[in-house]
Amino acid sequence: MKEFELIARYFQQPTLSWCNDIISTSIGDDCAVLNIPEDQELCVSMDTLVEDVHFPKQANPYDIATRALCVTLSDLAAMGATPVGFTLALTLPNADEPWLKSFSDGLIEIAQEYQCSLMGGDTTKGPILVISIQVHGIVKKGCALKRSGARVGDKVYVSGNIGDGAGALPVVLQDPCLQTALTSRYHKPFPQVSYGQSLIGVASACLDISDGLIQDLNHICKSSGVGMVIDSSKIPLSEMLLKKYSKHQALEYALTGGDDYQLAFTADATKNIPAPAICIGRVTNQTDFEVRTSQNIDFQLNGYNHFD
Ligand code: ADP
Ligand code: MG
Repeated sequence: MKEFELIARYFQQPTLSWCNDIISTSIGDDCAVLNIPEDQELCVSMDTLVEDVHFPKQANPYDIATRALCVTLSDLAAMGATPVGFTLALTLPNADEPWLKSFSDGLIEIAQEYQCSLMGGDTTKGPILVISIQVHGIVKKGCALKRSGARVGDKVYVSGNIGDGAGALPVVLQDPCLQTALTSRYHKPFPQVSYGQSLIGVASACLDISDGLIQDLNHICKSSGVGMVIDSSKIPLSEMLLKKYSKHQALEYALTGGDDYQLAFTADATKNIPAPAICIGRVTNQTDFEVRTSQNIDFQLNGYNHFD
């Protein structure tokens, strides 16, 4: 199959690639063309997923696609942005049609759910599967949720259960095609897009938890020039995580595991904090980061780092 046929058949589908008030030109020209409303700013983020590094090669192509798009949309959620469209750079060892069909079906599910159109991309042949997705979203001028605004006295919140993504990983690695409630947390994390939007004017700093709660909260501390005290007993853990793992293991996944894609944010507690935020600590004027645990637990307090 020729490259252009492949693009037309699997990517240039109306359910996946569309135009609207903002996207005036989509797949099929040299560039996508975006018309950004005057009172809005464009937020852009990119994620690359390499086979057997960021996902198991043997996983269902549908799941690979949902994960790739969800984790990238999560960055828009963290800024409070509304998704508009994405571009896709795909390096494939071969043009396997059933694989491409399932992959594009996975993209369609998430593109529809978050109203994010595939606007263009690049398709190349290469030795291994590499997927790069760049998302574009819009946010009202000056309103993007940054990492740098945390103030001493703010409380620290998360948007939901932490640790499921990391708890799912060993199961996914053992059987990449197994479909359970826990593995779906890995294959299809929920980018907190509408929740992120509800934090505009509320959160002083925000990010999505991709590399582990401690490492990610540290990014807010560094950017904002503050410290934090986190009470580990307040961190919400799902029942399914606690059913599979000991409390200690579940908490270790939550603190250091990554792949959660919940939002972590700081806010002045007198503000109206939208549900279901859970307060897990506070911002201090120390420059260090402290995790208080009720038991005497020794955690390996570092998250995922690509060059470790
Ligand atoms: P060019 O040669 O101008 O770079 P291409 O021949 O690579 O353009 O692509 C033709 C059209 O198909 C362009 O609009 C491009 O954005 C789109 N496209 C190519 N690959 C993909 C892909 N994987 N997903 C979505 N659109 C793609
Ligand atoms: Mg061109």
